[in-house]
Amino acid sequence: MIVRRLVSLVIPCYNEQEALPYLYDELKNVTKEISEYDFEFLFVDDGSWDHTKDMILEYAKEDKRVRYFGFSRNFGKEAAMYAGFCNVRGQYVAVMDADMQDPPGLLPEMLDILLGQKYDSVATRRVDREGEPPVRSWFARLFYKIINRISDANIMDGARDFRLMKREMVDAILAMCEYNRFSKGIFGWIGFRTYWLPYENQNRIAGETKWSFWGLFKYSIDGIINFSQVPLSISSWCGIGLTFVSFLMILFIIVRKIMFGDPVAGWASLVCIITFIGGIQLFCMGIMGQYLAKTYMEVKKRPHFIIAETNVEDAVKIK
Ligand code: UDP
Ligand code: MG
Repeated sequence: MIVRRLVSLVIPCYNEQEALPYLYDELKNVTKEISEYDFEFLFVDDGSWDHTKDMILEYAKEDKRVRYFGFSRNFGKEAAMYAGFCNVRGQYVAVMDADMQDPPGLLPEMLDILLGQKYDSVATRRVDREGEPPVRSWFARLFYKIINRISDANIMDGARDFRLMKREMVDAILAMCEYNRFSKGIFGWIGFRTYWLPYENQNRIAGETKWSFWGLFKYSIDGIINFSQVPLSISSWCGIGLTFVSFLMILFIIVRKIMFGDPVAGWASLVCIITFIGGIQLFCMGIMGQYLAKTYMEVKKRPHFIIAETNVEDAVKIK
């Protein structure tokens, strides 16, 4: 069912008790400003163990627009967004973080641009990385360079997940039902006309980030593996290169034997070569293993999320 002029806001929340009051106040103010639209707020509680759930259900008592979806455990932000998309009813859909890093104040402008008819989605990107550790920014830039070079996902540097979309685009996202989800790549892969709205980086209003440096590093490697087969060809090229080098070495050894006889020497270099080749082999096996592991998870077809509790009657609870 699609409700016309209804804007659905999908908000993944994981232990957001500190940030939620700010967000909810801001949402109330912003939606009052654009009263020509109806809104629904889909709070997807990704297995929080603080008061996130109680707070959302408290809001829902007074505000019929608040819809609560509580996971049976922490499934990750990707699963939370997917669950939200499965349950939206609006003609327009936006996804935003709970910590005000995706300012709800941009929504009126985003709606204006979207309804100008020329675009199917309005996405946001940060023009600066103020307040972020420099090492993290450096790795983020490197990641965008690499993934744009070797995949067809086409991701803008500084792109946030915060975006407003027409329903058609959400249907396309839902049609990509892969288990290993990387939304930044999925948004880029499905295409559609996207307007990029730049804004200055906002710091989290309260609470703490759920992403450690290693968490992000792993997420970016996952992103590359999900959207590119180039790492696999790297292993083939390593193989071809090394075969060529060893061929040259064989020639060298034969020539040396003919010219100088065969003194027993060179065991150290032999050990180095064996270790080197062993390393390369394990590296290539590791790359293949990554793809195999992804395939393994895909063929199992486990659900992306399990909703244990909700205040919505006909919710899609498992998918
Ligand atoms: N989040 C989630 N599940 C998780 C981790 C994060 O739903 O396992 C939510 C979190 O509540 C927030 C958003 O995803 O609304 C972004 O998380 P966070 O602000 O911690 O990430 P950062 O902005 O630091 O990248
Ligand atoms: Mg954040």
